[in-house]
Amino acid sequence: MKVTEDPHRRRNALTGEWVLVSPHRATRPWQGEVAQLKTASEPQYDPSCYLCPGNARVGGVRNPDYASTFVFDNDFAALKPQTVRERLDVEGKGLLITETEPGICRVICFSPRHDLTLATMSVDEIDPVVKTWREQFRELGDREAVNYVQIFENRGAMMGASNPHPHCQIWATASIPQEPAKELAAQQEYAKTHGRCVLCDYVELEEREQVRMVLENADFVALVPFWAVWPFEILISSKRHFGSMNDFTGNESRSLSEILHAVTATYDKVFSVPFPYSMGFHQSPSDGNAHPEWHFHAHFYPPLLRSATVRKFMVGFEMLGMPQRDITAEIAAARLRELAGKS
Ligand SMILES: [Zn+2]
Ligand SMILES: [Zn+2]
Ligand SMILES: [Zn+2]
Repeated sequence: MKVTEDPHRRRNALTGEWVLVSPHRATRPWQGEVAQLKTASEPQYDPSCYLCPGNARVGGVRNPDYASTFVFDNDFAALKPQTVRERLDVEGKGLLITETEPGICRVICFSPRHDLTLATMSVDEIDPVVKTWREQFRELGDREAVNYVQIFENRGAMMGASNPHPHCQIWATASIPQEPAKELAAQQEYAKTHGRCVLCDYVELEEREQVRMVLENADFVALVPFWAVWPFEILISSKRHFGSMNDFTGNESRSLSEILHAVTATYDKVFSVPFPYSMGFHQSPSDGNAHPEWHFHAHFYPPLLRSATVRKFMVGFEMLGMPQRDITAEIAAARLRELAGKS
């Protein structure tokens, strides 16, 4: 088998799912098309932005004149903490099962500056963001009713981000959502079978092979995972085995700021535009159980494929069969690595 030529499928060791890879179709040259997408630069302060300091949000609440990060409960929260936990199985046949989902949705502004992004903020400016994530993760995770805390950022209009102001969301839920639940099962299964952690073993393999690595520092690696679905997908993993931000020691907080900045700055060079993506941290569930199998990591899922305007769609066979990609993870990693080295 030639993974550089033969159509093949790859298994995601973190979820057990598969992706179809068709490298023979990726004959188009890479840098061919750099669309001149108009990226109007944002002002430092936008009087109509509901996240800028001092501005009023829907419902009339006014943001404080914050100087660093700012956290508030989402005005349009998808979840409510006062929801009572209940399960319903109409007729008891498992056909119409409902479970209520109590939870908390918050917004975290990264900076008072409307025009910045993780890519354009300095590492010193990202540090307070990581500090806020750690505080929020601990505070929400410690709550009795919360069993899982998801921190995520949607960046760019293409990802449905409604506001360019640098911010992320935290949804704290009573259930463990689908994606981390799959990873929980896969990590437990690997630990049972091999007596080791799947991501510890995987990162060690990637450090040896060096073909899918993009960036690294003392505490974290950023790589295009072997099973990547999105063209320029990146997995950030801690080098040390631990489950969540609660377990950071030494310089790990700072190292995370550094690698987040490096990854997002590299992304912006791919098509010379602010790169859209959804990113988020997968941390051990806050369900009161010890999770020795869980390995702290983050995913970046960017939709762009060949230019600033050509995005990947998950349609057709991908909706009905399985995800598919042309450019291999190895080629995407080489491209990102090359850009990461350029200042
Ligand atoms: Zn703003
Ligand atoms: Zn591990
Ligand atoms: Zn994950």
